[in-house]
Amino acid sequence: MTGRCVPKSLLVVLGLVATVCAQQPKNRPSDATEGGAPPPPLKVALSGKALDKYTQARKDALQYLASPRCADFLSGHGFQPDQVAKALSAQRPQDGTASSISFGAAGIIGSQPDPHSGDSVQTAFNNPNFLTMALSQPRGADTYYNPQLLTRKIAYPYSNPVSVIHEALHNLTGESDVAIAQDFGYTGFEPLESNIFLNDTLKKYCDSKR
Ligand SMILES: [Zn+2]
Repeated sequence: MTGRCVPKSLLVVLGLVATVCAQQPKNRPSDATEGGAPPPPLKVALSGKALDKYTQARKDALQYLASPRCADFLSGHGFQPDQVAKALSAQRPQDGTASSISFGAAGIIGSQPDPHSGDSVQTAFNNPNFLTMALSQPRGADTYYNPQLLTRKIAYPYSNPVSVIHEALHNLTGESDVAIAQDFGYTGFEPLESNIFLNDTLKKYCDSKR
């Protein structure tokens, strides 16, 4: 299961990423290897104002992760705060709306075989019927963001630091929202509910320097 199909009416959901597979995905050989022009850029780095906002959010988030309140909470729920900070520092922010890389090549995979692994990442961000905020590479450093999330052009109830910490947890653990939320005390099994639980928890404990 992946989070790329999110009902727009729910207006939330930050990267309900496919994280059920522990193993690293294999990179598939390109279909177009015979001569001709070099392939177009598939992975497009975040840039401009969205990158500025991301950079500020990450700086703030690293301070929040070091706060006693957040560090104590994470430590008490099986996460090492310094490891989360390390994953966040290593995170490579990509532009989800511009990246035509496939889910499979991006290392974002669901069930095996995943019928969507050939779809491009940008379709998840540009489909008007769904609203994807971010998608992270499990146990990898790439996170694809919706630039309009970071520039706050989309109404969203959580701060940018909460969003980047959320995604760093996926990078670090490779776990789904449900699994991480359960580590935080959530007792259900619903992806959307767990996403909200996870964000509410981060907002409560890890959204300030205190
Ligand atoms: Zn998530």
